[in-house]
Amino acid sequence: MDKTREIICIICPLSCQIKIRVKNKKIVSLESNGCRRGKEYAEQEFYNPQRVLTTTIKVKNSDSSPLLPVRTDKPIPKEKLRECMQYLANIEVETPIEIGQIIASNILKTAVNVIATRRLKS
Ligand code: SF4
Repeated sequence: MDKTREIICIICPLSCQIKIRVKNKKIVSLESNGCRRGKEYAEQEFYNPQRVLTTTIKVKNSDSSPLLPVRTDKPIPKEKLRECMQYLANIEVETPIEIGQIIASNILKTAVNVIATRRLKS
């Protein structure tokens, strides 16, 4: 039996509401995308949704901030978000830290790094 689903494209501000029809867990048709990029986005969102992870991690020795904001440098599979959060909850860093500094490389073998988004002095 066919199912329908709507995916809102976030690639540009037009936010097209893309309608997909699914059969046997595969997209069989796709409409209302304003351009080719929307088709690619909807297919990725359906088959392998990904997100940039943003969070904070503990800082051992900073007087100014006990937490360091971080993010992944690329999107990671949505299904790995929780596991990554748990991994990062157990990490502590020491200052000084520069913006863009790699805090965790190749996290959970995703080929994605977690980087600092704030500078912290010693
Ligand atoms: S489908 Fe194309 S036009 Fe529509 S929101 Fe996505 S990128 Fe923009």
